[in-house]
Amino acid sequence: MKKNIVLILLLMSLCVTGIVGLQLFWNYQNYQNTVKAFDHDINEALIKALDKERDQRQEQIVKRFKGWLADTSLITITANRNNRDSATVFYIQDTHPKFKGDKNRKTQFGLADFKEKLDHITPKAKAKLIEHFGERILKPDLKEGTVYYYTQMLGDSLEKVFSSSTTNPDRIALLFRQQLEAKNIYADFVLNPVRNDNLYLTRPVNTSFRKPYKKEFVDAGFEHQNRYFFKEIKWVIITSLLLIVITIGCFAYTVKTLLSQHKLAELKDAFINNMTHELNTPIASIKITAEALQAFKYSPDKQHEYLSIIAHQADKLSELTNQILTTEQVMNNVLVNKERVGVNELISKAIDDLRVQIEYRESCVDYIPATTAAYLNGDPDSLGKAIVNLLDNALKYSLGRPAVAIAVSTSLDHVDINISDHGIGIPQEYNRSIFEQFFRVPQGNLHDVKGFGLGLSYVKEVIEQHNGKIFVSKNYPTGSRFTIKLPLY
Ligand code: ADP
Repeated sequence: MKKNIVLILLLMSLCVTGIVGLQLFWNYQNYQNTVKAFDHDINEALIKALDKERDQRQEQIVKRFKGWLADTSLITITANRNNRDSATVFYIQDTHPKFKGDKNRKTQFGLADFKEKLDHITPKAKAKLIEHFGERILKPDLKEGTVYYYTQMLGDSLEKVFSSSTTNPDRIALLFRQQLEAKNIYADFVLNPVRNDNLYLTRPVNTSFRKPYKKEFVDAGFEHQNRYFFKEIKWVIITSLLLIVITIGCFAYTVKTLLSQHKLAELKDAFINNMTHELNTPIASIKITAEALQAFKYSPDKQHEYLSIIAHQADKLSELTNQILTTEQVMNNVLVNKERVGVNELISKAIDDLRVQIEYRESCVDYIPATTAAYLNGDPDSLGKAIVNLLDNALKYSLGRPAVAIAVSTSLDHVDINISDHGIGIPQEYNRSIFEQFFRVPQGNLHDVKGFGLGLSYVKEVIEQHNGKIFVSKNYPTGSRFTIKLPLY
């Protein structure tokens, strides 16, 4: 039985440890995945934000470029055909060339989707050319990071604008925030932060127009990222912790129940052992005496003697059953008669009840009553029996001539009753168990002291039903001291 319980406990501990371990591992993985997803999302968001910001700047350059093309004081656009059937050819050149002759470059274009055949430029054709030039030719050039000199003036101006264009931190911050919010990330960040260990950093992104040859890096750092990660998986962690707590709680409760069941079974065995032992002697002697009465013809005197033996043993049996019954009654909370009870009278009566035993054991009972009369609101019978039980134990568990002291003291609202002996004492580890039903301190060869382990559980129940407390401590130099605290009337 014990082996089985140990095995079950071991298996249960293993299972609970496994469940808790798995939960923790799962939470850790979850955390790691959140960090990974966060890392991926913030880097992607930064790249997108920087792309957009670069696009916006390029868009502005294209717009300015279109303006230059449209401005006849800067650029002259002409159109004609090589012969009657061929497509229109456009020419772009500086209106005021910086260099004369060959160096005043004239760039020639044909537009694939321009079907009209023109001998000179028209406003519509010019607009179409400017649009085409800006969107289809310049934009891809800018994306590649190249500036072509279509004319000297266009090349110079473009180069100036292109080279002086730098990132706009405010716009990047705004775009980055938008990108993060699109990914449901609402964490605080700093662009190009000063490095420190508390920051979670993105990878730096080169946002220069002329990358990879020129470098203009932007990165972002996130503060309190753990707070963010926790927020993300808060409910998962809380649920998981709750499950862990419930599992451990159930485990602890099951272990407690299992152990108390086991203990109860042991106590029950001890009680049955005790009981059979206690019942055996009177039953055996009743049986033998009755059989002798049946078998032989005794004189009336002898018959009377035998019948007295039977009656005496029957009394013993009824005393035993009574003890069990009264304990059971108190346990079922059936204290009915509450009245004003004098503490000193209660104790004197208890000593009187045990007079025969006290004298038989040649005991010394030292009783110091309360200096002022103390009264309780209680049931005199059960309180009396409780005191008798404690006194009886003090005598029972003393070797030789018992010495018992009873002291009563009162305070403002309660009375203390101390019953101490110089008997065999109670090992400290049993200070609580002795008040449990059927419990008896294992006493090796001293176990000839009779009892069922019911007395103290009865006492405790009675005292608690009177809103009092009872506890045991060591008496010096030997023995035990039982202290009862009860509220005054
Ligand atoms: P029992 O019928 O065994 O006396 P109790 O409930 O009165 O049952 O006491 C429980 C156990 O506590 C006893 O078996 C005994 O081992 C221990 N005990 C109680 N009172 C004393 C005492 N005054 N001195 C030593 N041991 C005691």
